[in-house]
Amino acid sequence: MGEPFLLTPGPLTTAYSVKEAMLRDWGSWDGDFRAMTKSLCDQLVEMAGDTAGDYACVPMQGSGSFSVEAMLGTLVPRDGKVLVLANGAYGLRAAETLRVMGRAFTLINKGDYLPPRGEEVARALDADPAITHVIAIHCETSSGILNPVAEIAAAVLSRGRKLLIDSMSAFGAVELDVRQIPYEAMVSSANKCVEGVPGFGFVIARKSALEAAKGNAHSLSLDVAAQWSAMVKTGQWRFTPPTHVVAAFLEALRLHRLEGGVAGRGARYTRNRDVMVAGMRALGFETLLADRWLSPIIVTFFNPAHPNFVFDRFYELMKARGFIIYPGKLTVVDSFRIGCIGRMDEHVMRRVVAAAAEALADMGVDSAAPPAAAIAERAKLAA
Ligand SMILES: *Cc1c(COP(=O)(O)O)cnc(C)c1O
Repeated sequence: MGEPFLLTPGPLTTAYSVKEAMLRDWGSWDGDFRAMTKSLCDQLVEMAGDTAGDYACVPMQGSGSFSVEAMLGTLVPRDGKVLVLANGAYGLRAAETLRVMGRAFTLINKGDYLPPRGEEVARALDADPAITHVIAIHCETSSGILNPVAEIAAAVLSRGRKLLIDSMSAFGAVELDVRQIPYEAMVSSANKCVEGVPGFGFVIARKSALEAAKGNAHSLSLDVAAQWSAMVKTGQWRFTPPTHVVAAFLEALRLHRLEGGVAGRGARYTRNRDVMVAGMRALGFETLLADRWLSPIIVTFFNPAHPNFVFDRFYELMKARGFIIYPGKLTVVDSFRIGCIGRMDEHVMRRVVAAAAEALADMGVDSAAPPAAAIAERAKLAA
């Protein structure tokens, strides 16, 4: 197999059998495909931990952002108000989505990577009774931080507000169980930790919320309540479904189950991260985040301070060795990211580290230590 490994947060490297599952055409109205849609939804609701039958899964065509927009536009009433908890690009995108659709919101912006904490969420809710919903990002993929959703959920629920979670890059590998965190809705997509190919996202929401949400949506196609009621009635998606992507996803779900579900998948990604981070640190690289906040999804490293280090060159040297890495997204210091998710294991991660060592040698970089400014920036996390 000559393809490079995608050390990126999705699209990611998928299993051969997942790709193979796409070698067949399906009629979207056909009973076989309707059964596939039902199976997909049933398995995802089960993965969410709903044993009481309170939640429904509604798949939506498009990339993950389409589903975030659909969730916000459908579940937040037109006269509702959302508290957005942002510490990176995806939190800010949720705020931008609300702005575009004309929903009221207020923003707690923690910058590049500081986690929003339960106490400040509680304070913001106490200060503004108009807030009806809170949206939290589970793993903020732009820094790789795993946000403390349990303490955020406790603050939101104790104040009688509703919690929406963007668990796009975490669901399927990091526990998010409705019996522990009874959210109103959460959203994820096919091409992240379940290891499918891109083409749809899904919203898992309380059925009572979906029933109450009729007529809220700002959009015809991004109406989760309408999609849900059509699916309940006909078993079909309202508009052309990504049939091949659904077939691939069912195979991805089979592999997920085989690996031991969320716990098994999470364990492999954690091992990937630990092996990769230890190896990179041994080369002198430093992570943006302290171990406590490191997700098993993606890790941000500071660019080395050495004058010979040029990210574009490093990228090409890694690619030549079969690894596609990811540029950083921090505003203050230069960084890059390495993903831990997708069809790969610790042996691959060891090769990633070896490739990084060779790339540094090729560039004539004898120390991967970051600049002092990066360390000063990181000290803010501890403050
Ligand atoms: C991937 C991702 C999204 C969705 O991004 P798309 O490019 O639209 O698929 C949203 N939120 C988070 C946290 C993500 O990681």
